Amino acid sequence: MDQKVFKLIKKSHHIVIVSHINPDGDTLGSMIGLGEALKAEGKKITYINTQNELPLRFDFLASYDKIRSCLPKKYDLLISVDAASFDRTGLDNGVEVDISFDHHKSNTNFAKYPITDASMASTSLVIYNFFKKFSIKITKSSATALYSALAEDSGFFKFDRVNQDTFLIAANLVKLGADPTFIADKLTKRNSLAKLRITEIYLRKLELKADAKVAFAKITLEDFEKSGALKSDTDTLVNLGLSLATVVVSIFAYEIDDRKIKVSLRSKSDHIDCSQIATKLGGGGHKRAAGFTADIKEIDGIIAGIIKETIK
Ligand code: AMP
Ligand code: MN
Ligand code: MN
Repeated sequence: MDQKVFKLIKKSHHIVIVSHINPDGDTLGSMIGLGEALKAEGKKITYINTQNELPLRFDFLASYDKIRSCLPKKYDLLISVDAASFDRTGLDNGVEVDISFDHHKSNTNFAKYPITDASMASTSLVIYNFFKKFSIKITKSSATALYSALAEDSGFFKFDRVNQDTFLIAANLVKLGADPTFIADKLTKRNSLAKLRITEIYLRKLELKADAKVAFAKITLEDFEKSGALKSDTDTLVNLGLSLATVVVSIFAYEIDDRKIKVSLRSKSDHIDCSQIATKLGGGGHKRAAGFTADIKEIDGIIAGIIKETIK
């Protein structure tokens, strides 16, 4: 598979790379890390995210301002990064994805050539390993993006799947030009007041259920309006629930519009597989971090069901 993918990339000139909807650091950093290295190999690269609202804290990554929301008319190859299923790419039905780089256990093999390694802490590590295997040079801007993706998706080297190799690769990316302090400052020290305000609302709304083993909070459209926060300002709130001593599962929900609600699940028990729960509900993810979208009217029943299933 890898060999075939390498050959396809080698013979293509114009390569489109697509990051997933509700973009996070891994998908944006993996997209740019892949693209910047391939540009140095002489490729023409187009970066796509089908949504218009991109989290601002990634604005220091190369070509961040060149990310477009529509596919070009013509291209040779389409690669998706960090998307577990086709709908996560945000592409119109019928668009063919040639290659996918991913690390989700729940990957549906929607691409013609899927490269998935669920043992990796980020998709950017899957890309790094691919570069190493085929001696593709990692430029400074690529190293910065790949390191940023890893730092974000591993909670700065705290989450599961972080091991010796993760640090060895991180060290190598630093050697290639990624600056850990610069990146950490860019990623974690540029919050808006609105983000702190939505955190305050989250903490106020946080409830403990099932003998304080489950943390649950829901942010409404009204809360977004009151605080001025963006949807992307909520992406780490679920971890605050999980930080409580007694909590093993943290559930966080926010209203997307008046019909749909987004749910994030986090676990710190090896016996609770978030990916399995989310996949059953039409989403996906990893063992300790997963998500799905649901109908707003069904949310209370769904949450009750998750609690009943996880805490037996
Ligand atoms: P989130 O709760 O959105 O931060 O997502 C946690 C993990 O689950 C990430 O790796 C996401 O890529 C994945 N994930 C979240 N929502 C979905 C979904 N609807 N379908 C598939 N994977 C998802
Ligand atoms: Mn992601
Ligand atoms: Mn990821």
